[in-house]
Amino acid sequence: MKCKICGGEWRSDGELMEGICNRHAEAERRLKEHFKVWAERTGIEWYEYLEAIVKNERTGKLVKEAAIYLLRNEL
Ligand SMILES: [Zn+2]
Repeated sequence: MKCKICGGEWRSDGELMEGICNRHAEAERRLKEHFKVWAERTGIEWYEYLEAIVKNERTGKLVKEAAIYLLRNEL
């Protein structure tokens, strides 16, 4: 199957989010982990967090792509 974000090939091993390659699944996992820390400190909402990630110029490409994908799919 092809990754919904980058079109790259991926193989399911049962743990990955459906339709996303290993690299983007890892980026998504890091986003969610980081969000827990932020949310506890600041009470930020998930979509606000994702928007901040997307706007941050220091965010890595993979993480930014994953955040854009999540914003489109969870709003
Ligand atoms: Zn991908």
